[in-house]
Amino acid sequence: APAPTIRPIQQLPDQLISQIAAGEVVERPSAVVKELLENALDAGSTTITIRLEEGGVKRIAITDNGRGIAPEQLPLALSRHATSKIASLSDLENVGTLGFRGEALASIASVASVRVTSRTANAAHAFEIVGSHEGVVAPSSGACGTTIDVQDLYFNTPARRKFLKSEQTEYAHCAEVVRRIALSRPDVAFSLSHNGRTIDHWNVSEAAKRSAHILGNDFAEARLALDEAAGPLHLHGYVGLPTASKARADGQFFYVNGRFVRDKVLVHAVKAAYQDVLHGDRFPAYVLSLDLDPALVDVNVHPSKTEVRFRDSRAVHQFVFHAVQRTLAQTSATAHGSVPG
Ligand code: ADP
Ligand code: MG
Repeated sequence: APAPTIRPIQQLPDQLISQIAAGEVVERPSAVVKELLENALDAGSTTITIRLEEGGVKRIAITDNGRGIAPEQLPLALSRHATSKIASLSDLENVGTLGFRGEALASIASVASVRVTSRTANAAHAFEIVGSHEGVVAPSSGACGTTIDVQDLYFNTPARRKFLKSEQTEYAHCAEVVRRIALSRPDVAFSLSHNGRTIDHWNVSEAAKRSAHILGNDFAEARLALDEAAGPLHLHGYVGLPTASKARADGQFFYVNGRFVRDKVLVHAVKAAYQDVLHGDRFPAYVLSLDLDPALVDVNVHPSKTEVRFRDSRAVHQFVFHAVQRTLAQTSATAHGSVPG
């Protein structure tokens, strides 16, 4: 094979740095949806509208009614390593917001056409910035809050674009991200449309109602509420009875401090708790939220922030396992006879 070209070490241009980072942050359209929804929630929004076109590849436009971005801050919103959420290492160790890396919008803007329109409560009108942090901030119109309009994902990175799946598949991933986030925030109204058609609309509601809406009646009719605390750990939500179990693991929602996570420790703890009541080839359905002091969990494990590391993962495992097992044991004793084993 030909020897690779070796050049002198040189600083990469800003755009290329962001495109490299985008490989991790902006894996596919659904990752954009996730980042934009997290930003909308961090901004204190109570109503969020998600409009998708062609599976999100053509367009992802998310409008919120949150606190907005002041015009002089718009270029910073699109700059790398610029964030309003942390300012120091101690903030990083106590992250209470969904975002903190300050790179999502810059990454997205490096691989798509982005327009940010925003209006703060005290501004006479909205302002917008187009393209990148180098874009000109211009007056615009719109209500208080922010719209981030992302078009033509990967238009300038054709190699990346080739990895996209069909419109239907990309759409399904986007819709899944919206469901996950909508489940975690019943106090926020969401609406989702695809190619101009409203697909879903969730009004502000009780947690019980939101989860019934999203997981369906099978779950709503066969679930147990759980709410347990021990020391710094608080677990709450719903666990489905064996009758609400599924052939696939698509009814499992675990949140840590409001963030949807895929965590081996947690999945294992829940699975073990179901062991006595559920056949091995079935997957339990559950919506569980673990809240704990942010200093006890590291969310800065991967750019996508769906992985976490607990300071004391054994204690977390024990607590979750026992809480779920106790909850399931109560009813299996009343509703299903004695628990085998
Ligand atoms: P991060 O969320 O990690 O701070 P982002 O690149 O996602 O980084 O966003 C950069 C900054 O832009 C945020 O810190 C926030 O101040 C601002 N921002 C982004 N989206 C919104 C929004 N929807 N409403 C208000 N401010 C926003
Ligand atoms: Mg963010």
